[in-house]
Amino acid sequence: MTHPAHTPASQHQRLPPDAATGRALRARTEPMTVRPLRDRRYVVETDGGTYVVDVERRTCTCPDHAIRGVRCKHLRRVAIEITEGCVPAPHERPAVCAVCGRETFVPLDAAGPQLCDRHAFIPGDVVTDRETGSTLVVVATTGRRADAVETREGRLVADYETNRRYGRHEPVVDAVYLDDRPPRRRYRFPASRLRPIPGAPRLPMADLPGEDSAGTGTDTALARSESVA
Ligand SMILES: [Zn+2]
Ligand SMILES: [Zn+2]
Repeated sequence: MTHPAHTPASQHQRLPPDAATGRALRARTEPMTVRPLRDRRYVVETDGGTYVVDVERRTCTCPDHAIRGVRCKHLRRVAIEITEGCVPAPHERPAVCAVCGRETFVPLDAAGPQLCDRHAFIPGDVVTDRETGSTLVVVATTGRRADAVETREGRLVADYETNRRYGRHEPVVDAVYLDDRPPRRRYRFPASRLRPIPGAPRLPMADLPGEDSAGTGTDTALARSESVA
């Protein structure tokens, strides 16, 4: 076993100063402000100047990158802030969660009401209906507002009495009752009416109804208008 102190000095001399580690440390600790631009690039403001970073092309307008061609601290900082969710990734934009109002990042082309990670659903999620206490399984998220989506009855999801406590602007989520016999009928809910069950495993979608064929989504679904048990 070689003690670090016994490493021949010549080895140290051949190596450059610990540049990578130094940049990584400065990238994390130096005061910098990162702001996304509209063209998928980022502005990084530092005490030493303001630079533009393109994480996809791995370029920065600073001299460290332009002259020495290294992965500078600005590029690293942008990557860190994307990973930590402080700024949107290049393919994302900020949006407000329709349930909690917190800022979240969504794909650039995402339309309609959006949900943060805490309030979004993935098909197969097991949830509780806050109105009835029933257990359901999410089969689809429509991405459309409760005051814009109709049920098979031709009523808007938001207009049901049992949905009055939930936001009309929330996206509609389609779910089936777990105790229904297949083929299970889909029901539609404003997102916050469904509460995730912590720790519940996500169910495989195999025995649940798949996507309806195009254009028939609203026809095959029905919101439970009353808390029928
Ligand atoms: Zn730079
Ligand atoms: Zn939220």
